[in-house]
Order: sequence, then structure tokens, then C-alpha cells
Amino acid sequence: MLEKVLERIKETGVFQYGLIKPSAISYRQEIRDICKGNLCRKYGTTWACPPAVGTIDECRERCMHYNTMLVFTGKFMMEDSFDYEGMVQSMADFKKLARDLESAVKPCLKDYLILSNEGCDICKTCTYPFASCRFPEQLHHSVEGYGILVSELAKQAGINYYNGENSVTYFGALLF
Ligand code: SF4
Repeated sequence: MLEKVLERIKETGVFQYGLIKPSAISYRQEIRDICKGNLCRKYGTTWACPPAVGTIDECRERCMHYNTMLVFTGKFMMEDSFDYEGMVQSMADFKKLARDLESAVKPCLKDYLILSNEGCDICKTCTYPFASCRFPEQLHHSVEGYGILVSELAKQAGINYYNGENSVTYFGALLF
């Protein structure tokens, strides 16, 4: 099964990937506290981010249900460090990459979980917190929202956290 998954992952255009055990990851409350600071302006606005994703313990439990975490990245080039439009576009492109990856591996896996970058762009306006998610089967929770420090995750998975000047790297994970 792993071979098939890896074969399909390679076809999706991910930049790098690496495998780790969900039990080897630290799920940190302090990362959640950074989420609360709301620098990304997503906190409390979507079912994909805290507090909607549950407590740190609930997130850890959800991950620990699986044996393997395949960490994957997308690398995107900006015109310069002030390229706001490029940044917004790359966030959307990474979400699409995570959705493409899901379509690619779905036929091989009975039970899996995908984490992606912050927020959710499926609907123009999210239903949170007044009604249930419109598309729960397409919803990807955010990696950071689970209290995971991506620089540490990159190190553990043996992939790059930083990919050079004027580039931005987003992280996602497939648990199965
Ligand atoms: S699918 Fe729609 S309702 Fe669900 S989290 Fe995303 S934007 Fe919100």
C-alpha cells in the first residue's frame, strides 16, 4: 500500500515529502496560543482552524489513530518579499495541491486524514460558527492548528523548511 501511495504522491507535483510516525510529533499548546494571536486572521473564522478543530488532546488523538504521517510541501516563488498577491495565490495553490493529492491517494486508502495550510477557501463565506461545515468530506484542518511546529516537522521528516530567497514553502500532511 505504501508503495502505491508514494507512486501517486510523486505524480501530484509536491515539492518534497517525508515519512514520520504521528507518535513522534509534539503537539504543542504554545503553537495554539500563537494561533490565538490571530496574525493570519483565520482564528475562529473557519472549521479548518482552532478553536473549531478541537483541543490539542483531541487533535493528537485524531493523528494517533494513524500509523504513518507523510509530510508534504509545496514550494512557490514570489517576485520579492513584498509580493502579497503572490503570497495569497500560493496559499490557494497549495490548498489545490492538497486536494489533488487527496484525489490521487483516495483510491489506495480506506481511512486517512489530510492536514493542509491555514484556513479553508472552498466557500466564499464560511458557515462557522453558525452552521455545520457545508463540505466536511473536503475539509482539511490546518497543520499549525494541531499545535504542530512545521520547522520541527520538516527536520523530523528530513525535508527543507526553507527553500531559498523569494520562495515560500507550505506544509501539509497525509495520515494513514
Ligand atoms: S468547506 Fe465551506 S463551510 Fe466548511 S470550513 Fe470550508 S469554507 Fe467553511
